[in-house]
Amino acid sequence: MSDRQYERIKTPESLISALREMLGDRLSTAQAVLEQHGKDESWHEASPPDAVVFATSTEEVAEVVKLCVAHNVPIVPFGTGSSLEGHVAALRGGICIDVSRMDAILEVNNEDLDCRVQAGVTREQLNDHLRDTGLFFPIDPGANASIGGMTATRASGTNAVRYGTMRDNVLSLTVVTPEGKIIKTANRARKSSAGYDLTRLFVGSEGTLGVITEIGLKLYGIPEAMSAAVCAFPTVEAAVDTVILTIQAGIPVARIEFLDELQVRAVNNYSKLDHKEAPTLFFEFHGTEAGVKEQAEFVQSVAEEYGAEEFQWATRQEDRNKLWAARHKAYYASLQLEPGKAGMPTDVCVPISKLAEAITETRADCDASPLTCTIIGHVGDGNFHTLILLDPEDPAQMEEANRLHKRMVERALKLGGTCTGEHGIGYGKLDFMVAEHGEDTIAMMRAIKAAIDPKGLMNPGKLIPGL
Ligand SMILES: Cc1cc2nc3c(=O)[nH]c(=O)nc-3n(C[C@H](O)[C@H](O)[C@H](O)COP(=O)(O)OP(=O)(O)OC[C@H]3O[C@@H](n4cnc5c(N)ncnc54)[C@H](O)[C@@H]3O)c2cc1C
Repeated sequence: MSDRQYERIKTPESLISALREMLGDRLSTAQAVLEQHGKDESWHEASPPDAVVFATSTEEVAEVVKLCVAHNVPIVPFGTGSSLEGHVAALRGGICIDVSRMDAILEVNNEDLDCRVQAGVTREQLNDHLRDTGLFFPIDPGANASIGGMTATRASGTNAVRYGTMRDNVLSLTVVTPEGKIIKTANRARKSSAGYDLTRLFVGSEGTLGVITEIGLKLYGIPEAMSAAVCAFPTVEAAVDTVILTIQAGIPVARIEFLDELQVRAVNNYSKLDHKEAPTLFFEFHGTEAGVKEQAEFVQSVAEEYGAEEFQWATRQEDRNKLWAARHKAYYASLQLEPGKAGMPTDVCVPISKLAEAITETRADCDASPLTCTIIGHVGDGNFHTLILLDPEDPAQMEEANRLHKRMVERALKLGGTCTGEHGIGYGKLDFMVAEHGEDTIAMMRAIKAAIDPKGLMNPGKLIPGL
């Protein structure tokens, strides 16, 4: 989206030598490694760092940060590189700190339903580790992202309608500041009124304020009963109205995901499924046996009122896993509709009462466009995405995709929503920040950034326009 130009800052050889002396072969300047670390999963152009360090401890991250800052060299933290808005591109060059080898699960406190992990632990790794404890960590972006990266992007996923986002599930953080100091933002208490909420400041800071090295997280008991269902609707409006009524009635659905007709076709083809090609909702209910039954009956009756077809149930774990695996692969499924093309993902979120208007007008825009677009969404939160398929080398297609994206965001803002429900800003959505927040709020964000990172070396060019 942004056509800003960034001047690269030259990384001095003396810094590379000092880092090599400290880290040995855990510093890499191999071209393939640089390229892999300068690009996320999106269509945004890559910008490789000058070197990648693979850190193994908080203290080591602190030493690397001190050296980089002393040499006035930018730092880009890196988890798994699954972000979607150019977040990890080293726009001004510099050193990428890859924390994926910091993958220890430091403590699990069963009685308190919490744990502490290093930043490189991935969400699947954490849940595999927890399997025998009867606990789980619910936040599930489609990719197997790192907990550090999920914290830094304030990620969510299909379960957020019931369990919240990273904002609601991070208890405390250990952070290496741009001065190379190691700070802890909070203790393990579930709530605290002690001072500024620095935990929340770093959640969603996209590597622009420091490197997160450890995270304290809330955990949940695996529910006694779970069941999932798929249901096709005659129209987009009918599906979305079912969602709105369900949420307004306070039904604690665990997941409620919308797929438009084209997205269902893509998922069927990619994951070898045979759902009816129609606007569709995927549901999951968690609770006691009786609670799940009651929730499901209520939602079924609402859906029937809106002309839905029969619910197809997946009660066995393997069937549920298959369904959600297909949902999580929806991004790649959409890309396969036109192999060779890239996808521009959008990510608006609106208040639930405005969801029908936002989705139907977006679908109409997509239908009128020459570009192919799928729509999918965590609609229980009012959050949905289009994936606009395009050739980034074709200026006309880029212009059309940007136009569609801009219209979606303007509509969301007019309806009281946001340009990004969960993916974050990176550099891809910088142009929407002032429109969403206003100049004075952005000025305050700049002041916070300047106070914590006065040299502007932490992930420069991201999150705040004009830096
Ligand atoms: C197929 C697919 C589906 C997706 N679905 C969802 C979804 O449903 N919901 C959702 O929220 N996202 C989704 N995403 C986006 C992505 O998975 C999330 O943004 C995720 O949180 C990124 O984590 P990561 O470990 O890959 O971080 P990276 O991509 O490595 O980094 C992301 C940002 O965080 C910073 N960062 C990383 N680690 C640290 C650290 N330790 N300290 C400080 N800063 C750090 C980086 O500098 C960068 O700015 C999806 C992506 C894909 C490819």
